[in-house]
Amino acid sequence: AAPVLTVDGPGGAGKGTVSSLIAERQGWHLLDSGALYRLTAYAAGKHGVDLDDEAGLARVAANLDVAFPVTGGAVQTLLEGQDVSRAIRTEQAGERASRVAAVPAVREALLQRQRDFAKTPGLVADGRDMGTVVFPDAGLKIFLTASAEERARRRHAQLRQAGEDASLASLLQEIQARDARDTQRSVAPLKPADDAVTLDTTRLSIPEVVEQLTELLAR
Ligand code: C5P
Repeated sequence: AAPVLTVDGPGGAGKGTVSSLIAERQGWHLLDSGALYRLTAYAAGKHGVDLDDEAGLARVAANLDVAFPVTGGAVQTLLEGQDVSRAIRTEQAGERASRVAAVPAVREALLQRQRDFAKTPGLVADGRDMGTVVFPDAGLKIFLTASAEERARRRHAQLRQAGEDASLASLLQEIQARDARDTQRSVAPLKPADDAVTLDTTRLSIPEVVEQLTELLAR
């Protein structure tokens, strides 16, 4: 089987950036599992499926028509052929994704789709339950964390770059609410796998985190 590196943790801990840098460095595939939940929520909205309609959401997840073409080094996200790369990155899209992600039938519908990303020469899987549920046999499992305040600051900077403005205080509140929902839900709650290496990135730069993970991978 192809080697798998799982990178789990709360939003804003640096998983996305670090995972894509490591995938690039290793020449491995990348699974952004959060995008699948964001896409499910977005597709539900597009097709008029209510976020309380669990069977409807599961159907949307099972039938997701998505593609992640790489153009000029950047990954595009297409839903039914439409570029939704930016649309699924808003705070609201993240909030809706976390509600959809709490539905067991949605997680079940996305399971095989995620496992299919594990192909030679290897995979970096970014998410919340990569090491605990989706890839329990992964060769290396990382749990990235950072303080909620630091994660709010990072999200703020990220949104700024995307041309969105949100107050730091409201972002901190949203991060705490999302953490609570992700850690307290009944299916696949956010927690480190028993055999995961936990790394607190509050005081680490992205290159420092990438360096540490590359070293762990080489062991
Ligand atoms: O990582 P990202 O912010 O894109 O994830 C959006 C939401 O999707 C998270 O808040 C979480 O509720 C959910 N998610 C999940 N399991 C994953 C990845 C994301 O439940 N593996």
